[in-house]
Amino acid sequence: MNSANRKTVFSGIRPTGPAHLGNYAGAMRNWLSLQDKYGCIYSIVTWHALSSEYQNSKIIKGYTEEMGIDLLSVGLDPAKCVIFVQSEVKEHAELHLLLSMVTPLPWVERVPTFKDMQKELEDKDLNTYGYLGYPVLQTADILLYKGDIVPVGEDQAAHLELAREICRRFNRMIGEVFPEPQMLLTETPRLAGTDGRKMSKSFGNAVYLKDPPEVIRQKISTMVTDTKRKRRSDPGEPAACPAFTLHAAFVEQAAREELARGCRTAGIGCLACKTVVIERLIETLEPYREKRAEFEKNPARVWEILDEGNRRAREVARATMDEVRAALGF
Ligand code: SF4
Repeated sequence: MNSANRKTVFSGIRPTGPAHLGNYAGAMRNWLSLQDKYGCIYSIVTWHALSSEYQNSKIIKGYTEEMGIDLLSVGLDPAKCVIFVQSEVKEHAELHLLLSMVTPLPWVERVPTFKDMQKELEDKDLNTYGYLGYPVLQTADILLYKGDIVPVGEDQAAHLELAREICRRFNRMIGEVFPEPQMLLTETPRLAGTDGRKMSKSFGNAVYLKDPPEVIRQKISTMVTDTKRKRRSDPGEPAACPAFTLHAAFVEQAAREELARGCRTAGIGCLACKTVVIERLIETLEPYREKRAEFEKNPARVWEILDEGNRRAREVARATMDEVRAALGF
């Protein structure tokens, strides 16, 4: 939407807590590299957060501000991309409703991540109509901006495939309104958390971008490693080491290969190995910490930027909905 010739990229992130390394490596870092090439529209998807946090809805506003700070502090630039809050653009709800009319029930029931998320968030009751409709709302998010490109990791590919199917069905049954969004498969390393399970706020095992250097050091230096490597003299296997998922995401290849060799030959101890990634992370996040400190002092500025993003998103969303209603004959 930024310029006539540039393709539109759409992506969203759930405000359910401060951003952690998994969010950074899996989404934010890709968003950063895309903002220079495309007309990017990035949404803080508050209604998606509500689908799992509906019993705790009052935390979402605070997390929205927190996510706004995180996105701006990692380097997203409101002069290059639109950053907005989903629930401030009501057209998302309208298009979600309309798309739900044409979406066959088995299509949403077969989405594999539905079961995965239920497992990950097992302390939450996700047996709701809203949660089942999550991928349809995602489809509405994309189509509302006529998104051409959606960056996704492999684990999200099924969602985008569904969005493309819903898009084709709407265009065929109601009228040709939407371009079919294309998938941009991005590198989204699956980071382990400190306990070895997938890094997730719900597991309490995350390393947050806003963690001060000493907390990053403490969390990673005590992180689970290859459990078969009991003594310093035992050779280890990086592929079986949760801590090494961080190396895979943040340490350049040559250094990583050397560490992997050192691990397999018992030439390096775990603490020395982890120190490499700890120092790399602290250095990488230095500019982030500086910007974050400024935004934290001035949250009003964050809301101003989000409000401006909401205004720009609304403009596009309204024009699309005019076309949708006309196609429906309303
Ligand atoms: S040396 Fe590194 S890769 Fe090997 S087990 Fe220890 S932390 Fe993991």
